[in-house]
Parts: sequence; structure tokens; C-alpha cells
Amino acid sequence: MGLRIERIPTWQDNYSYLLVCEATGEAGVVDAPELDPVVKRIEELDVKVTHVLSTHHHPDHSMANPALAEKYAAPVYGHITDADRLPGFSNGLEEGDTIQIGNEAAHILFIPAHTKGHIAYVFDDAGAVFSGDTLFAGGCGRLFEGNPQMMFDAMAKLGALPGETRVFCGHEYTESNLVFAAHVEPDNTAVASALENARKVRANAAADWHDATPAEMTVPSTIADEHATNPFLRAGSVEELGRRRAQKDSF
Ligand SMILES: [Zn+2]
Repeated sequence: MGLRIERIPTWQDNYSYLLVCEATGEAGVVDAPELDPVVKRIEELDVKVTHVLSTHHHPDHSMANPALAEKYAAPVYGHITDADRLPGFSNGLEEGDTIQIGNEAAHILFIPAHTKGHIAYVFDDAGAVFSGDTLFAGGCGRLFEGNPQMMFDAMAKLGALPGETRVFCGHEYTESNLVFAAHVEPDNTAVASALENARKVRANAAADWHDATPAEMTVPSTIADEHATNPFLRAGSVEELGRRRAQKDSF
């Protein structure tokens, strides 16, 4: 018994997640841009959706919120400051708040940088963080609404989680992220082997992301993996992170 985490490939390269408390059959959905693939998995597993969870307001993470909320009579959670722009928003969260899916508790980290209202959901007992578009495997999100200082602070907060914590991020960007990481740190052997592994995993990827099986998914990584390979988590200063982010934007 514990938290079952289903990775559902959605949109172009997005991950939606279905989180199931195995003891009670209650479930939460993290970041759903489209309804059908998520509903299909919910029905296959025959679980009861009690939470619709958003990491941030971008449409490729939230467009299906209103339809999910209506179909399952479930509240939609997001950062309190996104009340007016997160589709379907009903329940505001802030740093340190907790939510409960069945017996599985998560605490909220406020990590603005990619957007001003970005949060992460940390399931401590299950050892999993849902980091949206802030921390990716091998990378970080673009600074659409924040600055390098904010991303540096977000990396520090996420980086302080236990090393074995699994990182479930918002997109399958790992391979291209690690190509950039290898460019930034050509002598980093952990990056080289992570890149080799990502290339193997992605070598036979389905033409349509919706058809992706777990065998072709590089997510999750772990916080320890990110400490070893991620050029943004590894940046030694705000300035270094800012330089790397600007470089990646046009890489
Ligand atoms: Zn985004």
C-alpha cells in the first residue's frame, strides 16, 4: 500500500500524473491539458478522483481542469495568486500548506520563477515531488515571469529534498536538456552517462507521444540525479544560473 503514480503522456510532450492512494482508491490528477487520456486511465483503474492539482497556470498543464472538475465534482488546486487565471481554480494553496489524497499527504513548495504562481507538490512518505515546469530532468523552465534569483531560490528549495525523492516533471525534455548539460560541463561523467541512458530510452520512442509506454519515458529522475547532472541545480551562483538560462534559451 502506498501512492501509485501513473505517468500519462499528454499533449505534445507533457506528463500528466494520476496519483492513487492504494489503501482507499482515492486519486488526484496533476497537470492535465486534455481530458480523454486522463479519463481513460482513471476508468481503467476504477479510482475516485478527489483532487485536481495544478503546478502552474499554463494551458498545456491546466486546460482540462474545468472538465475534470465537473466530471468528478472535484476541487481544483493551485497557488492562491493564480485564482484569476488558472482554469477551473477553486482552492488556493501557499507554501507549507498540505493536501491529502486518501492517506497520502503532500506539502506545498512555492517556487515562483517560470511563472509567478508556480508550486510543487511534495509527497514526503511516498518520496515524490511534482515539479511542473520548474525543475526538469537535466534542466529548468524558462523564466517567463521570474528572474534568475527566483529560479536559483527554487532550485535550492527543491535541491534540499532528500536525494532519493523521485522528480516527476512536466515535460519529456530530458534528452535535449542533457545535450545542453554536456555542452556546459563537458567533463561531467554523470552527465555523459545520463545522456547516454536518455538516448537509449528515447531511441525507439513512439511517433505520437500519446502512444508512449513507460519504457520510453526518462521521467522520473531523482533529486540526487539532478544534483549530479542538472546545470541549473548545479549553478554556483545566481549569475551563473542566469548565464546558463540565457544560453539555453538560444541553444
Ligand atoms: Zn509552463
